[in-house]
Amino acid sequence: MGFVDSVKDIAGKFGESVERGAKSVSNSSKKFAEKTRLKREISHIESDIDTDYIELGKAMYEKVCDDTDSEFAVTIADIKEKNGKLEELRALLMNLEDRITCSSCGANIRKEQAYCDKCGAKVIIIAPEPAEGEEEKEEVTAEVVYSSDETE
Ligand SMILES: [Zn+2]
Repeated sequence: MGFVDSVKDIAGKFGESVERGAKSVSNSSKKFAEKTRLKREISHIESDIDTDYIELGKAMYEKVCDDTDSEFAVTIADIKEKNGKLEELRALLMNLEDRITCSSCGANIRKEQAYCDKCGAKVIIIAPEPAEGEEEKEEVTAEVVYSSDETE
């Protein structure tokens, strides 16, 4: 093989490999696009199912929340406890924001409003009653147990 021929040969091989490379690049970019599309579709359907589960769970909760013998009693108690805590936190937040709950319709309104802008009821601010029976509270004396394991 003469020099020119061998250069052509090399060039030809190089060209082939570039072509092959380009093909595999376009294949892998197609694959990538397809993978992205599938992943997006999968996560979309998964999130739809999650929404359905939540809806189902809430409907189920309404049905069994008063049934203390329910097999879901532990979860129900947990939800109730957390709802209670939520109410407490919301009340604290409302107090900080100078907002109150309308005693007539339950709307969240500003303290300084004379009338509820939802139902029109006169806003009556009931001063929080001083907690009675406070002194009846048992004094909790924690028993301190010193662990002998702790080396400090
Ligand atoms: Zn109202």
